[in-house]
Amino acid sequence: MMVLSCPWCGPRNVTEFRYGGERRARPEVETVSAQQWRRFLYAKSNPLGTVAESWYHRAGCRRYFAVERDTATNSHHAHRAQGAT
Ligand SMILES: [Zn+2]
Repeated sequence: MMVLSCPWCGPRNVTEFRYGGERRARPEVETVSAQQWRRFLYAKSNPLGTVAESWYHRAGCRRYFAVERDTATNSHHAHRAQGAT
């Protein structure tokens, strides 16, 4: 069982959350090419190591928050997101 720490509710079973995807800058819609937009929507980097992600606490406070997670160990640090995506 993986435990994820919500910044508002504390440690909870990961089944209470929904994965929101990798956190990355959204390209400007007016200037981006179709290929760049498609890459933003569908191509995931999936690195081995630390990634910035968004998670949603669907069975708790119903808030989005940011997580830096090590994909090798699942160790993580969660914090209240600024401008969450
Ligand atoms: Zn919560």
